Amino acid sequence: MADKLMDKIVSLSKRRGFVFPGSEIYGGLANTWTYGPLGAQMMRNIRNHWWQSFVVSKPEIYGLDSEIIMSPKVWEASGHTSGFSDAMIECKKCHRRTRADHLIENNLKDVKVEGLPTEKLDEIIAENKLPCPYCGAFDWTPARNFNLLFETHIGIVPETESLAYLRGETAQGMFVNFLQVVQSMRPKLPFGIAQIGKAFRNEITKGNFIFRTLEFEQMEIEYFIRQDNWEKHFDEWKELMWNWITDLGVSPAKLRWREHTKDELAFYSIKTEDIEYDFPFGGFKELYGLAYRTDYDLKNHAEKSGVDLRYLDPTTNEKFFPHVIEPTFGLNRTFLTLLIDAYIEDSGRVYLKLDKRIAPYRLAVFPLVRNKEQITNKAKEVFDLVKDKYPTAWDDRGNIGKRYFSQDEIGTPYCVTVDYQTLEDNTVTIRDRDTMQQERIKIDDILKHIA
Ligand code: ATP
Repeated sequence: MADKLMDKIVSLSKRRGFVFPGSEIYGGLANTWTYGPLGAQMMRNIRNHWWQSFVVSKPEIYGLDSEIIMSPKVWEASGHTSGFSDAMIECKKCHRRTRADHLIENNLKDVKVEGLPTEKLDEIIAENKLPCPYCGAFDWTPARNFNLLFETHIGIVPETESLAYLRGETAQGMFVNFLQVVQSMRPKLPFGIAQIGKAFRNEITKGNFIFRTLEFEQMEIEYFIRQDNWEKHFDEWKELMWNWITDLGVSPAKLRWREHTKDELAFYSIKTEDIEYDFPFGGFKELYGLAYRTDYDLKNHAEKSGVDLRYLDPTTNEKFFPHVIEPTFGLNRTFLTLLIDAYIEDSGRVYLKLDKRIAPYRLAVFPLVRNKEQITNKAKEVFDLVKDKYPTAWDDRGNIGKRYFSQDEIGTPYCVTVDYQTLEDNTVTIRDRDTMQQERIKIDDILKHIA
């Protein structure tokens, strides 16, 4: 059932222009995907809604758009060049590579592997004779750590001095620019710095569709606080994150919080919890993360850069390193979760019950018939009335039934039809995706109706 659901979603995504395999005409490139016309619009809707919820509506949170390529010193200081790695094993028979932790997790449901050293992973694989997922052989190289950062070179000569990295997370941009934001905006604690942007990781494990890809987008906030009330802020963010995703219609029964065990915690974090979603592939997996990162990052960058990154409290004149709560939302996993959760098959009808703020089109406009100039012109007027306010689809192919079917499948919440009666009284029919009910309303009321 679950496999079938994923197959249907992958195929619908491709057929209807949500997501295409990356570089397909050249045979594809593993773990890369293109967002098609509808996918690109839906991604934009998610970004806009997130930015509106956490930046525009929250005066104490400041937006940022830092660069993908930063000084390599940033990644040395943050520990990514030495410690941002996964344990990899290679099958000696088919020479394909796999992440040791994923091989174990996919085969042994109760074994927790995060934080275990490579020798321990080798032991578990050997004890349980875990075979290669590609060719079935049991003949592995020992696990070795490999770095997830993508290397690149600045300039035309690939020498070590020109070595740079594509960012592995957006978070470092917020720490590195902490002082600049404080000096330009004069914020009072608590305050946050937020950004949405691409991150890159050299992931070798076969991804489940867009769940794990080489490049992806993070929507992330570093929320700076005083140490003594970190638990209060942590709990507040837990609630905000949960409310944000459930407000978009994702079923709470398929979501859960999971706290990281001591072994899993990053060395600088005192507490981390993930929101997990019950994905059709392998059950509950990380959707978002919430971490209490202490004052580790600012202190560390201050030490390595030699720049004083302490915060000066304007009322008490104290100087100190603020502590940080970090809510991270993966954009692509949000997209995937929304698609999976919205997919409904009901007596032969397929529809995506996407929130209207997120659906690629807010509405579709149809002329009832194609060959009546007056009706087409009137429908164009309606289209022009709404198209600058909301993404709007136009469809004059086939019959109305087919058009409804087609819009249901891509999650369009409303379909407006211009017919003969429209020419007489300026009313149209508006059909609701979820109830399939049709109402007659005035053209002047369309915007109010769909708002
Ligand atoms: P995972 O354990 O699944 O590898 P992570 O713990 O490394 O994830 P974080 O570093 O906490 O992930 O990144 C924050 C968020 O970014 C994740 O919650 C997830 O939504 C998203 N994310 C991380 N890696 C990827 C990836 N390779 N592809 C798509 N999204 C990702």
